Amino acid sequence: MTRPPPRDASRDLYRRPKPKTGGSPRPEASHAAPSAATDGSGSKLVTSLANPVVKELRALHMKKERAESGLFLAEGLKLVTDALEEGWPIRTLVHATRVKDQPLVKRAIAEAGARGALVLEVSDEVLTKICRRDNPQMVVAVFEQRLRRLDELTEPPGVWVALEGIKDPGNLGTIVRTVDSVGAAGVILLGDVTDPFALEAVRATMGSLFHVPLVAASLADFVAWKRARGIPVWGTHLKGAVDYRTVDWPETCVLMMGNEQSGLSDAHVEACDGIVKIPMAGKADSLNLAVATAVMLYEIRRSRLTV
Ligand code: SAM
Repeated sequence: MTRPPPRDASRDLYRRPKPKTGGSPRPEASHAAPSAATDGSGSKLVTSLANPVVKELRALHMKKERAESGLFLAEGLKLVTDALEEGWPIRTLVHATRVKDQPLVKRAIAEAGARGALVLEVSDEVLTKICRRDNPQMVVAVFEQRLRRLDELTEPPGVWVALEGIKDPGNLGTIVRTVDSVGAAGVILLGDVTDPFALEAVRATMGSLFHVPLVAASLADFVAWKRARGIPVWGTHLKGAVDYRTVDWPETCVLMMGNEQSGLSDAHVEACDGIVKIPMAGKADSLNLAVATAVMLYEIRRSRLTV
């Protein structure tokens, strides 16, 4: 793993990062450096529920705070380890006192510390407050968000999933996990979508968030991008007349999926080169969005997947 030079974490923990896509950062935050004692292992000990850091971390449950700070919370050792291994910039690592001697936790602490993150050792009570739930994960970390623009993409060609106005964070996380599972290229978020860095979305990705590129784009930019690159776009729609199993799926394409309630809008259908349908035999009107995406991705990638 390549490591950036360590920073003075206690000073810039909550410094606003430059936004990765558009938007303007809010003025420098007035977050005070945490008042915490160090326990001799590099971790700072936080036992007071009133510590300002606890409030700062809790605030990341709110969309507004995540949008303004460009930060998000990842809960659990697996997610935190995945993010560290993929080189996601870490700001803070929080761990419970009772897990500090576990080898994987020690490794995460050392890695976070080496990257200049603030490392906090806290009581279970403080963790419960930060995670806003009983039985919280024993390790939680704050990372910088990464959302790309289409013109930044340098990934090799492959299968991209474009999602129009997805609203359910659980669906989004499940789709990111499925994209990872089939070795697809990434996810393009079109228009007004649920926050991919909401805790529920992050949890549902089971760590795939850290391996799968996420792109945010307007429909106009998307259409210009796919035209410039000559990438075929296939939409899915209940009114589609083509059975998805009859298409000879190319190595590189975009699979476009509609919103949970209203499906693909006419404007998004216009952006497609073809529309397919998954046959429905029973009384259900449609499949769940994440399920439909999984069915499609496994068909598109079928010949490239082996056990
Ligand atoms: N009421 C919506 C409609 O009329 O399209 C249902 C939306 S469905 C829950 C969410 C998305 O999943 C759809 O926009 C489409 O992309 C995909 N989808 C679900 N079932 C499908 C099917 N049988 N064939 C093709 N796409 C499907």
